[in-house]
Amino acid sequence: MENQVWDSLLLSRSILTMEAKHDYGEINNGAIGIKDGHIAWIGSQTELSQPYSQLANTIIDYGHHFLSPALIDCHTHLIYGGQRANEFALRLAGKTYAEIALAGGGINATVHATRTASDDDLFRIASQRLLNLQREGVGCVEIKSGYGLDTDTELRLLRIARSLQDHSQIKIITTYLGAHALPPEYPSADEYIDFICREILPKIATEHLADAVDVFCEHIGFTLMQTEQVFKTARRLGLAIKCHAEQLSDIGASQLAAKYQALSVDHLEFLSEAGVKAIAQSGTVAVLLPGAFYMLQETQKPPIALLRKHQVPMAIATDMNPGTSPVGSLLLMLNMACIFFGLTPYEALAGVTKHAAKALGLEKTHGTLQPGKVADIAVWDIKDPAELAYYIGFNPCIQLIKAGKKICN
Ligand SMILES: [Zn+2]
Repeated sequence: MENQVWDSLLLSRSILTMEAKHDYGEINNGAIGIKDGHIAWIGSQTELSQPYSQLANTIIDYGHHFLSPALIDCHTHLIYGGQRANEFALRLAGKTYAEIALAGGGINATVHATRTASDDDLFRIASQRLLNLQREGVGCVEIKSGYGLDTDTELRLLRIARSLQDHSQIKIITTYLGAHALPPEYPSADEYIDFICREILPKIATEHLADAVDVFCEHIGFTLMQTEQVFKTARRLGLAIKCHAEQLSDIGASQLAAKYQALSVDHLEFLSEAGVKAIAQSGTVAVLLPGAFYMLQETQKPPIALLRKHQVPMAIATDMNPGTSPVGSLLLMLNMACIFFGLTPYEALAGVTKHAAKALGLEKTHGTLQPGKVADIAVWDIKDPAELAYYIGFNPCIQLIKAGKKICN
């Protein structure tokens, strides 16, 4: 260590490494040496020899500010056209989902708006949504397709998601969610699933457009059998698996996802203990989405005590989408996960750092501050890590560092 010269050396009163199993892994008066965008060394300032100028080309002293891993939003539907504020108003005026859908609203309205939007418009709107997250210290975002449903638009959405990575500073993971809803032009779900498996998934795999495949497995979505057909095809093509599971009922989607070693199962309000045991065994992450829980005014909560008992890692995400979770703040989700689901502030932060990284298959490179990992770091103006889950509508992030480079906030 003593002979090497790092590109930069960060100093701070407190570094939340998030590498410990049950706490923040805090280093008081800590230091991080960064080389080639990665963490080369991390520890206490007392372990370093003086003067620091011999250790690194640039020294940045963050003083009393806290450092943590950059946040990760591991479940979003961030690229879509239009918005559904009109439906929000209709629902408040007493209209039901079914009445709104019959009048041309619901997911079909977003599908229509997305299909007719230009690439430029979709890119511009998505960039703005990403920027909102970035300002809160988010350095990595998963983006699902699923508002195109036809081949052209779905591939277009995935290409735009990929291009966002080239044009923004944020790392993007893409997920194909063709099995989100039945497209209006398809009479039968079986035929649509056949089409996805035969036509779209091989194209996506060949062009490397998606990192994972997701299915909305629910009585108002796709059946277990249809879901398994997609999972089998995804596995054959080498794509990772995720699943919208047990949001509205317990149909065993989590057990099925566990059988295919899914990276994550998401929502989980109706998850049973059998489901919890299955995902504990497969190492699958439970992704909690308190924004959708809130907007839908759900009363059934995910089984947090069982997830803890079986040591299932819990992640938290915005589920940013125009229908059930028009949420642009990941920090707000920390607060909601604590208030609605009873997570501790530590569990909430773990849910948007190390567990969110695991939900995206990135646990070897992201999610904690450890030697060898990418130097994605958020800088916070706080005095206690619980503040990150405590505040509502305050943003204490003063800087995001991506791969060792400062990004203006
Ligand atoms: Zn979702």
